[in-house]
This record gives sequence, C-alpha cells and structure tokens, in this order.
Amino acid sequence: MKNHSDELIFQSQICAGASQICLMADEKPPARISHRLFATGRSEMRIRLKMEFTYKAYGELLALLRQQGYTFSSYHNYQDCDRSVIIRHDIDMDIAKAVKMAEMEQEMCVSSTYFVLVTSHFYNIFARENQDMLRKMHGMGHEIGLHFDEAKYGEETDMVLAMEQEAELLAQCMGVPVRSVSMHRPSRKTLEADYLVKGGQIVNSYGTEFFRNHKYVSDSRRNWREDVLAIIRSGEYDRLHVLTHAFWYDQTEQTAKETLKAFCEGMTGRCYEWMQDNVRDLDEILKRSELR
Ligand SMILES: [Zn+2]
Repeated sequence: MKNHSDELIFQSQICAGASQICLMADEKPPARISHRLFATGRSEMRIRLKMEFTYKAYGELLALLRQQGYTFSSYHNYQDCDRSVIIRHDIDMDIAKAVKMAEMEQEMCVSSTYFVLVTSHFYNIFARENQDMLRKMHGMGHEIGLHFDEAKYGEETDMVLAMEQEAELLAQCMGVPVRSVSMHRPSRKTLEADYLVKGGQIVNSYGTEFFRNHKYVSDSRRNWREDVLAIIRSGEYDRLHVLTHAFWYDQTEQTAKETLKAFCEGMTGRCYEWMQDNVRDLDEILKRSELR
C-alpha cells in the first residue's frame, strides 16, 4: 500500500465486495472478461483502487490526459491533432448529474459529448427543466448526441431509420442538428453492424473508427475493466475514446447501493413536487411526510 488512504480504500473495496460492481450495464460484458467482474484477486482490486468514482478522481483523469499531450476532441475534429481523446458520457438515468460533470469539465476547459435517451423511463427530454439543462450543457460547449436503445424496438425494425427519427426529435428539442449517436446496451449485431446513419452525417460512436481504431475504455457497470490511468500514462495510444457515466460520480466515493438508493429516494420527492403542480391541495390527500 502506498499510504494510509490507499489502504482504507482497499479495505472498503474488499468489504463492499462484488455487489458494488454491477447493476448498470451499458454494454453486455463479453464472455471472455465476465469472470473478472467477480474476481477478488489482487489485480482486480488494484484496478479499482486507482479510480474512485469521485469528481476529484475524474478531474485527475482529465488533468493526466492533458499532461500526456492529449487534445480534447470531438467525433468530428479529432483528426486535426496528432494525439486526441474523445470524452463521451451516456446519460442513462439522471440529467442533473450530467450537468454537474459538464460544469466541472467547463471549468477545466474540456468539452465532451453527452448522449441522451429520447425513450427513457427516467426522464423526458421535452420536460422544461430537462430541456433547459440539456441546452445549458450545449451552451457550455459540449455536444449533445443521441443515446439509442435498440431494445425499445422489434427485431424487424430498420434500426438506422429509427435512429434517424429519434435524432430528429432530439434536434427539435435542442434547436440544433444532432451529429452523433451512441448505443445503450448494444447487441453484438449492433456492435458489428458499423451502421451508417443519415449517410454519415450522424457519427456512429460504435462504428469501426471509434470502437476499433481508437483505444476504447469505459466505466460501464461502474467498473473500469482496464486500468484507464495506466493506459493514459503508457503513451501507447494516439487515439483514445473514453466513456464515463456521470451517474456514478459524486463528491465522495459512494457504493453503487448508496447511489441508487439516493436516486430512488430523490425521485420520490421530485414525483411529489410534480404532483403538486397537477393535483390541487395534494397535501390534504397525501402528505410528503407519508412517503419515504
Ligand atoms: Zn446507456
């Protein structure tokens, strides 16, 4: 152990066990590495030791990228520099969390791409507060792309057409064209499809260029499957593509359970507030204090 704080983190990670490393799957783990998700060996612990899910740790990752000579790029301009990193965030559940990360990036002069679902159970992009948050993020210099969930559609669906239709909806919401798409829990078929969306006007972040020709690392399932910091330090890759989920990050390290619990309980309060706008004298029928 390098120091006392490392040791504490190491101990807490061991105690938390495998239950922490799960729950949100943005990608189904390939069979060849799935056993690692439940590994308890030292190497797995070492990887988790290095990246906490805190804003401080994320800020250090961005600083390290800059220090190693990476230019923060988009899907559209990465070829303008010799060494580029594309930072991508998929918003699966909570736009407000993404705004916090977007603000932090702005303070560090970093722009990235935030992908939003238009078919989410958790948020409606046309709801005023959500639309305002998305436009605010765009105003900070971040790109807003489409996060596409193929599971909402049947097998026979023309997925490219569905993506184009959803992109049009998002464009209406944002008031600007949508220029990129990422997939939510992509199937093998989708990963291998190399879809050409809107004749290439909408970049497919799972296309060959960004998923194979770039070094792709992600924190999907609240787990960096590879040591992302070592990859950055190695200098081995001139094209990096990094996916994070703002949902898991906080001021202090939280377990997956703590994060999910706080989100669920917060949703109850927000649901009650929305009801107040729709049900007259709500508290005569149901008081906020009667809910958990
Ligand atoms: Zn997703």
